[in-house]
Amino acid sequence: MLTAVTGINWGDEGKGRVIDLLAEKADIVVRYQGGNNAGHTVVTGHGKFILNLLPSGILHSKVICILGDGMVVDPEHLSKEIAQIREKGVLVTPDNLRLSSRATISMPWHRAQDELEESRLAKTGAAFGSTKRGIAYAYSDKYRKKTIRMGDLLHLDEPRIQARLKMMLDSKNLELSGCYHQERMSYPALLSWCEKQAALFAPYICDTGSYLEAALKNGKNVVLEAQLGAMRDIDFGIYPYTSSSNSISAFSTIGAGIPQCKLDECIGIMKAYSTCVGEGPFTCELFGDEAEELRKAGNEYGAATGRPRRVGGFDIVASKYGVRVQNATYIALTKLDVLSYMDKIPVCVAYEYDGKIIDSFPSGKVLNKAMPVYEYLDGWKEDISKCRSYSELPENARKYVEYIEKNVGCKIKYISVGAERDALIEK
Ligand code: GDP
Ligand code: MG
Repeated sequence: MLTAVTGINWGDEGKGRVIDLLAEKADIVVRYQGGNNAGHTVVTGHGKFILNLLPSGILHSKVICILGDGMVVDPEHLSKEIAQIREKGVLVTPDNLRLSSRATISMPWHRAQDELEESRLAKTGAAFGSTKRGIAYAYSDKYRKKTIRMGDLLHLDEPRIQARLKMMLDSKNLELSGCYHQERMSYPALLSWCEKQAALFAPYICDTGSYLEAALKNGKNVVLEAQLGAMRDIDFGIYPYTSSSNSISAFSTIGAGIPQCKLDECIGIMKAYSTCVGEGPFTCELFGDEAEELRKAGNEYGAATGRPRRVGGFDIVASKYGVRVQNATYIALTKLDVLSYMDKIPVCVAYEYDGKIIDSFPSGKVLNKAMPVYEYLDGWKEDISKCRSYSELPENARKYVEYIEKNVGCKIKYISVGAERDALIEK
């Protein structure tokens, strides 16, 4: 069974907690894109875990976790993240963590470039709102063929790899010293950095694509985990306010290194309201007290950065698009409990531009100028965090769920009403 779990909205929908749940029945969980700019929160009996690089299956000792081909991996960050979760008693060994030999390495200069460019832009008020973890720079160097992959760490003594490292370093030093007046990095320093990462990670690095293909042939359950929502996909999202990779389900098998395998299902994670981190068009955005109350109720502050998230009502136009472009089989609707305080629940049912109503997700100028059309549904005004079956939910909560289901055009199978593992309803 091959299942992709992807975000339907702008990210932070609660993918981590849903994958943690699915991991109970999974054999393998694979992260297929992005880097350590992810912030997936999982709450277990052992406390709260924020995962940046590691797949959200890592908290289940029997699950094998993979960082797939499509990822960019900052090995220094990976070391820290592993150390942090080991401290909380989670086992991480080459038996339950595998790193794809084809994954791109995020080099120390990628983070530096991200920081330097962001501060340069900030001087003119044009900063991008990057997480400054070097992801865009690592991906662009992947496409410029000017970085190395995890598997290359196993062959640092080969003249071919050494020549590549020298070529990359020359080019990077030109950029860093020429454009940003930084000190040049020496080749021995670079080689020693690579050797250090190789010593740490060699036992984890392998051909994870072949491993996955064989596992699927043997009937294993494999979950492919997205890092961000559809709106952040570099091609299908709100470019340029996107991530630097493809997060949608169609890329999941490619990023896992198994493009010959067909997905059995795609579970779309959709939040009961909207949030968006950083810049970019966010048509359904709410402001003022209405926004502040929702942000507080949902504790909407970035897991990786602590930044306050922009908030809005549920956005039917964007969510319908997120479902369509990923061919979602069904939906897990998260954080319904957060709306319990509302008398009337705002839902963005359409966009308006130039006097016309738009109900399919636009791009470019129309998206940038579109205004939301809001309708209000009746709230339920009671605590639903203890509900564990659909029938226990108040009638207005059920009406809200069914309204969304109908308008988005996809079945809702799970509803979460709290961050804890058991705070979940199967519809
Ligand atoms: P991800 O990036 O998609 O994995 O989502 P994040 O972890 O960034 O954000 C989701 C946040 O909501 C986390 O803090 C979760 O602990 C929390 N959360 C997840 N599901 C629920 C829920 O059903 N109710 C509430 N109140 N919080 C939830
Ligand atoms: Mg997140």
